[in-house]
Amino acid sequence: MAESGFRDTVRRVAFQRSFGRRECTHLDSILHTNPERFDCEKCVVGGTHTVHLRMCLTCGEVGCCDSSPAKHARGHHETTDHPLIRSIEPGEKWVWCYKDRAYLTQVLG
Ligand SMILES: [Zn+2]
Ligand SMILES: [Zn+2]
Ligand SMILES: [Zn+2]
Repeated sequence: MAESGFRDTVRRVAFQRSFGRRECTHLDSILHTNPERFDCEKCVVGGTHTVHLRMCLTCGEVGCCDSSPAKHARGHHETTDHPLIRSIEPGEKWVWCYKDRAYLTQVLG
């Protein structure tokens, strides 16, 4: 518990580039919370390397993270305007809002 809290704090500072907790005004856009696949389809098709997997909480599309060369999750946000992604890495439930630049740990319980 304490250790995962520490990891969340590290990620919050790294992602937001600030320490404080931020609010998200887009929680009503959440329609999907659990993934139906565990790969990035665009990476599979295009032959690019996936580092970590993220899932869009509006439509459920799974894409690769910003550490992946193709950044398909971010590309999905930029083309669809869907605001929220979650990590679907094992044991991770954190959510990121692109619009509020908010790292959220309470959304998915
Ligand atoms: Zn938001
Ligand atoms: Zn990808
Ligand atoms: Zn989406």
